[in-house]
Amino acid sequence: MPSKDYYEILGVPRDASLEDIKKAYRRLAKQYHPDINKNDPQANEKFKEINEAYEVLSDPQKRAQYDRFGTVGENFSSFGGQQYASDFTGFTNFSDIFSDLNSTFSEFVKNFFGEDRAQTRERIPRRGSDISVGLTVTLEEVLTGTEREVEVNRRELCDLCKGSGLEPGTQPEKCPYCNGTGELRSSRSTPFGQMVNIMTCPTCRGTGRIITHPCHQCNGKGFVSRKRKVIVKVPPGIEDGTRLRLKGEGDVGINGGPAGDLFVFVKVRSHPIFTRFGADLEYEAVIDVFDAILGTEIEVPTLEGVGEKLNIPPGTQFGATFRLRRKGLPFINDEGRGDLIVKIKVEVPQKLSEKERELLLEIANLRGKKVNGKSGKSFFERVKDAFGG
Ligand SMILES: [Zn+2]
Ligand SMILES: [Zn+2]
Repeated sequence: MPSKDYYEILGVPRDASLEDIKKAYRRLAKQYHPDINKNDPQANEKFKEINEAYEVLSDPQKRAQYDRFGTVGENFSSFGGQQYASDFTGFTNFSDIFSDLNSTFSEFVKNFFGEDRAQTRERIPRRGSDISVGLTVTLEEVLTGTEREVEVNRRELCDLCKGSGLEPGTQPEKCPYCNGTGELRSSRSTPFGQMVNIMTCPTCRGTGRIITHPCHQCNGKGFVSRKRKVIVKVPPGIEDGTRLRLKGEGDVGINGGPAGDLFVFVKVRSHPIFTRFGADLEYEAVIDVFDAILGTEIEVPTLEGVGEKLNIPPGTQFGATFRLRRKGLPFINDEGRGDLIVKIKVEVPQKLSEKERELLLEIANLRGKKVNGKSGKSFFERVKDAFGG
């Protein structure tokens, strides 16, 4: 066999602890998991390699043997085909390792072992997969909170066979491969002598029984894919990018395992007139330069659609801000609301009538400005004034 460096494959030093090996394995298994790399045969190869390395290095006996001889016997020299299948199912803590992946493990098994084996019953209860959907809400919905319907495509228990995979009225039959024991025993020669290896029967996956008449509705899988509408409660004040978790609304569990969760990623659509800053909203009010100079009262729109009166005092500057208390968005985890911040933009007229121009010149002169070569104090005169000259 081409001697593979299992330590290198898992990226751990030769003296790595079991805990480190587990950690490295989890990380790599997630990265190269066939569910994530569906059309990448190289990733699948890598995944097999990682599993092979882990199976050896996580078993103190096999690891010692490997460290000493650089191999763990012929059974591990090939990790594909039938051999792979046997080793794989003998891997008792496999579901533990994968429990945090929420992997559609049976799909993976199906890819490796063919449809017929995937149809056999697995006895280990497994949690169903999580499902993610996106939902876009408006700022108005953030203000009040809302209930929205999302459509999810999820696995549900087959209502015909109630998840057993059996055609109604039929019974499972004794597995001919293991003769109903659920186990396969094999002995082999190793450097330590004859070793008896007991493994789970891959045909019936340890149940001792196989389904000869699969349920016609679910093809013996015990579950079916269904489109469902799920009501999502969006709380007031929700932030853009929040992930809502609806427990148990994901895929149905396998062998009585709990259902997965539904994750709803909430996106808050940007608003044409309000900009959000947490619970505060900002609104840009455009006022005329004369209103800025003389003062005025304006009406500011709010998310509720009711205009709020706002007093603009004389001499208001460009960029000045005013706060309308508690006219913003609700706090997500608290009572009360943020503010509506009104930011002032002053607009200067681009065209003036002759009369307006004359009047403005007069004002400018009054304020001591020198405009277009006409009367008014010069810069030097104003400096003189300022220093009392
Ligand atoms: Zn069924
Ligand atoms: Zn069997």
